[in-house]
Amino acid sequence: MKTTLGDDCFALPAGVSWTPVDTALARLREGLNCVTQTETVVATDALGRVLARPVVAARSNPPTANSAIDGYAFAWASIRKGDEASLPLEPGRSAAGHPFQGIVPEGHALRILTGAEMPHGTDTVVLQEDCTASVGRVHFRVPKAKGANSRGLGEDALAGDVVFPAGRRLRVGDLARLASVGVAEVDVRHHLRVAVLSTGDELIPDGEARHNGIYDANRPMLLSLIREFGHTPVDLGMYPDDASLIRAALDRGAEEADAILTTGGASAGDEDHISAMLGAEGQISTWRIAVKPGRPLALGLWKGVPVFGLPGNPVAAFVCSLIFARPALGQLAGLDWAEPRGFTVPAAFEKTKKPGRREYLRARLDDNGNVEVFHSEGSGLIGGLSWSDGLVELPDEAAVVSPGTPVRYLPYSAFGLRL
Ligand code: AMP
Ligand code: MG
Repeated sequence: MKTTLGDDCFALPAGVSWTPVDTALARLREGLNCVTQTETVVATDALGRVLARPVVAARSNPPTANSAIDGYAFAWASIRKGDEASLPLEPGRSAAGHPFQGIVPEGHALRILTGAEMPHGTDTVVLQEDCTASVGRVHFRVPKAKGANSRGLGEDALAGDVVFPAGRRLRVGDLARLASVGVAEVDVRHHLRVAVLSTGDELIPDGEARHNGIYDANRPMLLSLIREFGHTPVDLGMYPDDASLIRAALDRGAEEADAILTTGGASAGDEDHISAMLGAEGQISTWRIAVKPGRPLALGLWKGVPVFGLPGNPVAAFVCSLIFARPALGQLAGLDWAEPRGFTVPAAFEKTKKPGRREYLRARLDDNGNVEVFHSEGSGLIGGLSWSDGLVELPDEAAVVSPGTPVRYLPYSAFGLRL
């Protein structure tokens, strides 16, 4: 059984005409919840999975105090204040995996190796290179403080600590942490299945030689974007602007996926079948978002499954996917809401922008660390997607940018894209 979404999950406040980006994002954040089920997997197979429950350390790391270096262990209380000390050596040693079995008497030192348990009776280690050992004794420069060069029990994690919260996507370093605290299995969310559907009478099958049609650029882009977001893509194909075909495709999407992305037909024109159909047979809310590129975004539910009706324009579909679909899909998948982390860099371009909408420009860093933008803002220019490494985000307000003006740059990696 899927967790359901409320019929009003995409409803916008009445009377609002152009919705600011932040309002739209806040609304998505509030209206959507996790829809995926939980399963238990072996921790070593859990890279990229989303935690369904917090992870608690099964034991402490390190499980015992141990030495950070090769040297000699002793009790701080054995030595007097001063720079130099000399202690008799206790026979034996403590090595990693071979702890010393006895107790080191106060006033004695014991040979110890990196990673070895601190022997009973000791609390401090002096570095081998700071020592001279003669028969039965060790002379050394006194280390800085009690406990020097010894790693405390549980200083990395204590048994019972919450090491990861629910909603985290497990990363490479996290697998090391899980192993270190003795966690062999984790409860994670099923992969979110996201279906992709292209619509438009102008679309022609790949490779078909027809001078007046266009090839479907959106579907390969969105299917791979979904994979980059960590979800499972489901290809529903492409359809002409035909209500019954689109209806059947949406039905299949609702069966096979947890969310559906469509492109084309999201405005309120005669041939805008996605908005028309969601309006007539599902729930729809057409969001006129104050964003460029983008604008009409038809959000609705089809048989209880959320549909994101993206603009047909490939550049607008790409930008709207990064800005709106990504955090929304993440939340459906059980992830925490994800803000892209950008940074401020000097502009290498000039632009005067009007107030009242946010703008995203295809951009990349130049050799001097300034950000340059694609030569054209035309949202049909797919070449700009390949040219760019990220987006410049210009604020909702009016802005005058000239070379050197600090602007916000969001590299594609800030949206989770590796490629
Ligand atoms: P629409 O949103 O249907 O009004 O389409 C806006 C523009 O995007 C039109 O120029 C379409 O031809 C173009 N377009 C729509 N779907 C695709 C697609 N799948 N691939 C490439 N361009 C598309
Ligand atoms: Mg169309």
